[in-house]
Amino acid sequence: MSRKLKKMGWWASDTAELHFEGCRVPVENLIGEENAGFLAIMQNFAVERVHLAAQCVAIATLAYRESVAYARERQAFGKSLTGFQVVRHKLADMASRIAAARALTGEVVVRAVRGEDMAVAGLAAMAKNTATDMCSRVCDEAVQIHGGYGYMREYLVERLYRDARLYPIGGGTREIMNEVICKVEGY
Ligand SMILES: Cc1cc2nc3c(=O)[nH]c(=O)nc-3n(C[C@H](O)[C@H](O)[C@H](O)COP(=O)(O)OP(=O)(O)OC[C@H]3O[C@@H](n4cnc5c(N)ncnc54)[C@H](O)[C@@H]3O)c2cc1C
Repeated sequence: MSRKLKKMGWWASDTAELHFEGCRVPVENLIGEENAGFLAIMQNFAVERVHLAAQCVAIATLAYRESVAYARERQAFGKSLTGFQVVRHKLADMASRIAAARALTGEVVVRAVRGEDMAVAGLAAMAKNTATDMCSRVCDEAVQIHGGYGYMREYLVERLYRDARLYPIGGGTREIMNEVICKVEGY
């Protein structure tokens, strides 16, 4: 039966199971061409995956900015966290990973605009996995840089960490993305 689902993150977006029984749809409400639904949904998936990759870049950028601001402000052992090389290097790694995922996501968009459909299917899956892994890692580091506060609801990075966990699952799991890549690469 239909029910609203309680989620780990993404609380701003309601998610529910929908149940249809004896449901008839008038023919004028047909979306697209009859018997071409699978193709339509596959094409939509590639677009959705690029959107999800872009969301990961945005979430990670937010987590990075919060971390830089916090590391500048927080004093420990007589200096700010940015005074410790280990923290600065974490921030440098976060910035580099975000830049790489952003570049790949941008490449998919450029090739989609050029109409390179087959390359886009594989690249969209690669971009989703790359951006997803990057986002999980960056949000994890952001919580770490915030220390105990990173685990608290009042800090944004706690929410970003929970929100980030959806991305290797939603819109096709990480494993299914790899299957898509295998198919496009031909093995
Ligand atoms: C917050 C949220 C919002 C969602 N919104 C929507 C929505 O709007 N519309 C919608 O249609 N769906 C939505 N989903 C569903 C989502 O797309 C699926 O949960 C997701 O695609 C994974 O499918 P599944 O849950 O059936 O997992 P399963 O298919 O049961 O997979 C379980 C595990 O097995 C692995 N696995 C399964 N098959 C293979 C395989 N062939 N090879 C290797 N590993 C495999 C998976 O990678 C995964 O790790 C949403 C899910 C969440 C959590």
